[in-house]
Amino acid sequence: MSDCLFCKIVAKEIPAEIVYETGRTLAFRDVNPQAPTHVLIIPKQHHATAAALATADDGLADEVLKAAHSVAVLEHVADSGYRVVFNTGAGAGQTVLHVHAHVLGGRDLTWPPG
Ligand code: 5GP
Ligand code: ZN
Repeated sequence: MSDCLFCKIVAKEIPAEIVYETGRTLAFRDVNPQAPTHVLIIPKQHHATAAALATADDGLADEVLKAAHSVAVLEHVADSGYRVVFNTGAGAGQTVLHVHAHVLGGRDLTWPPG
């Protein structure tokens, strides 16, 4: 989608600090990190929300989840614990309508989140 911020990152039209990439996924650091590790995992193909990704039925949701785990290993937070979050919908705080998994780690994470 031409007016989508994260599609522009996929197209390299907007810079991002990419930490991991597969054929169908991209992982880059959040510009406003909420933890020492705060990486966003996206499918390169545009889907607005996690709900849309879940119904795509082509294995892409699996790939995003696997990429999230790979990033946790690369960032050395897999053993200490990390969180994978899909804010889905405005009421949950989703501000960018291109589905993204937040991978957060490197500090104690309280539950429930605010
Ligand atoms: P949401 O609130 O939709 O779950 O998360 C969107 C995230 O995207 C926020 O954590 C925000 O800091 C991040 N973000 C917004 N614009 C940019 C950008 O241009 N580059 C990067 N790397 N992250 C962004
Ligand atoms: Zn997009």
